[in-house]
Amino acid sequence: MALKTHGEILLFDCGEGTQRQLMRSSLSFMGITKIFITHFHGDHYLGLAGLLQTMALNGRTKDLEIFGPKGTEQLVTILERISYYSRTYDLVLHEMRENQREQFEGYSVTAIRLDHSIPTLGYLFEEDDRPGKFDMNAARVLGIPPGPLYAKLQNGEEIVWNEKVIEPAMVLGPPRPGRKIAIAMDTKPILKLPERIKDFDILIHEATADRTLENKANKFGHSTAAQAATIAKEALVKRLYLIHISPRYRDPRPLINEAREIFEETYLPSDLDEFEIPLPESWKEDDKLWVVAEKEAEEGEEVAEAAEATVSEGVPTEADETADATELYDVPAPEEAPPAVPAEAAGEPPIPTEVPAEAVANPGEEEELEEIVPEPEPAITAEGITLGAVAAAMESKTSRKTSEEEPKDPEPTNEEASEDEEFDLEAAMKEVGLDPGAE
Ligand SMILES: [Zn+2]
Ligand SMILES: [Zn+2]
Repeated sequence: MALKTHGEILLFDCGEGTQRQLMRSSLSFMGITKIFITHFHGDHYLGLAGLLQTMALNGRTKDLEIFGPKGTEQLVTILERISYYSRTYDLVLHEMRENQREQFEGYSVTAIRLDHSIPTLGYLFEEDDRPGKFDMNAARVLGIPPGPLYAKLQNGEEIVWNEKVIEPAMVLGPPRPGRKIAIAMDTKPILKLPERIKDFDILIHEATADRTLENKANKFGHSTAAQAATIAKEALVKRLYLIHISPRYRDPRPLINEAREIFEETYLPSDLDEFEIPLPESWKEDDKLWVVAEKEAEEGEEVAEAAEATVSEGVPTEADETADATELYDVPAPEEAPPAVPAEAAGEPPIPTEVPAEAVANPGEEEELEEIVPEPEPAITAEGITLGAVAAAMESKTSRKTSEEEPKDPEPTNEEASEDEEFDLEAAMKEVGLDPGAE
């Protein structure tokens, strides 16, 4: 999931396949400035090695920051050592503690502790307050002429007019709050979370299973859709996005339905979806009605897309998988799959009836049983913020264009190059910093 905001792209987790999905998305992986890892189960970080190396191949020079729980330094360092490559940029690693808040330009990110089977962090993204609205009347009453002085005041600078000091607060309304997004995966439901994220705009919460599998989901450190919706309702957030859906759900409607019974503004994004997150003052009654209208029109499509998303995700079928975990994550046999009616009705391509072989074969060794959900997860967007299954991006009205370093198209990898082309050993050795002439 990626968040595009303030001229940056923040990536939350980087499971296997993330790089490939980024190339399919509207985002440039070169524009990623910070990566936040929630925990070190494979589906949340194994894509890092490839992404970091591709950035080097593309000549990245800008620092890349990686944040994560305890163990981040060691694990990322190991990932870096498992192959030869020359990094062209600096990697800055940060191990975050519970409740640690990092202030950046225009926003902050706070780590919170989640309740999973291993140390796991959730992240709270909070935009800084923006200056209040300029009060023209107040400025006129003070006799300040329109022009550059207005701009200074709007930018928070005090000015002197008629030998009097004018404070910005004298002509500005109250500060306007920024957008707030909470990201919680992977985790059991946390009773105190609603209090912590009260009045956030958006909650992105995992919903690995439906309510009939609540005990098993919770046992493995996961939540149901109903539990996620309950948290959203208690927190009074404006929207809930469900992610980390078990691939057992070819048809995710049971998850959406059970969540909407509790919290109506629930969405289940699919890979590469993007959403804009409106500014807090934009969530008015009228807009709310507009959102509802839009939702009705898109309902069929949304469900179909979600179904497609779950199908595309792989499930490890480990021989030693326990019956419990199998039930949680098992992908139904193709003949059990419900007909893809909504997809076709919505003009979407029909849902494939077979899980791609590449998705099923996952000889991942130490990967936990429950960790079946593929990394590409929904992205979200708003007037400024975009969230998607793989690309959740956020771009605020005030945001600048992303760095100069922006996305050039990635160089074709060796794999992508013509199959007939002869493999150039010398070039390949140079690429990884080896001297072809050396013994
Ligand atoms: Zn996990
Ligand atoms: Zn997971």
